[in-house]
Amino acid sequence: MNNKKDIIARINKEGDVAMDLRKKHPKRGLQIDYKNGRTAAIELFCLHCMGGGPDAAASAKACQSYTCPLWRFRYGATKGQIPPITLPTQEWYQKKIDASVSDAKREHGRKMGKARSQNNE
Ligand code: SF4
Repeated sequence: MNNKKDIIARINKEGDVAMDLRKKHPKRGLQIDYKNGRTAAIELFCLHCMGGGPDAAASAKACQSYTCPLWRFRYGATKGQIPPITLPTQEWYQKKIDASVSDAKREHGRKMGKARSQNNE
């Protein structure tokens, strides 16, 4: 049960990095927990990823995990910064998307054909 005493005990519990980060960054915690703050959530996630210690902010800012989906949005990121690696092109993504749509349509057609043939039996 989540009574007030349990919640306070959880908030005060030491060693829960995500909770400790909320206490250390209350504005971000408020944004995350009550205002759908995605940016604040990503920033705290990066601090959590970097261990949540005193160096976490600097480590997240200097993060070199360029393929991490959050890299562009990480704590301390410069807006518009492009990772220094070769990423798939927009055209490559579009081809994959188009191919998957075609596959889905093919699969749908197969199912419809199978259902029709079963109805005719
Ligand atoms: S961008 Fe870096 S710090 Fe942030 S979650 Fe990804 S790997 Fe962790």
